[in-house]
Amino acid sequence: MTICNCGEKSILRNVYACSGCADVGEIADQVSRQLRKEGFAQSSMSCIAGIAAHMKPFIDAAKKVEEVIVIDGCQVICGKKVMEHAEINAVSYILTDMGLKKGKTEVTSEVINDICNKIKEKQNRL
Ligand code: SF4
Repeated sequence: MTICNCGEKSILRNVYACSGCADVGEIADQVSRQLRKEGFAQSSMSCIAGIAAHMKPFIDAAKKVEEVIVIDGCQVICGKKVMEHAEINAVSYILTDMGLKKGKTEVTSEVINDICNKIKEKQNRL
């Protein structure tokens, strides 16, 4: 937990996405980037591919934050499995469980904003 000058507490969190080639993988990637841009997660990016490759700096970066979120496009949950293999505790979001249809979802700013808002709402309730 960090405290900024205004006195409000904010959580140090990293967001990762499966970044798959499917439409829902692309949306997962765009959502993770937007959450970082909005300040919901750390603005410095870290790569899930580095974790999948078992490279220590990437694993350490994920283990040192208070919260890790992983967004997967579908129930194959590649991102979640990467985190499990590296023994990183992560909160998981699966876009096909949130109403998106793999192979049938247009990648639009409306969809990206809607998923961002849903993730922020759910996280704020935890
Ligand atoms: S979780 Fe689904 S969309 Fe993401 S990389 Fe794996 S198969 Fe592709």
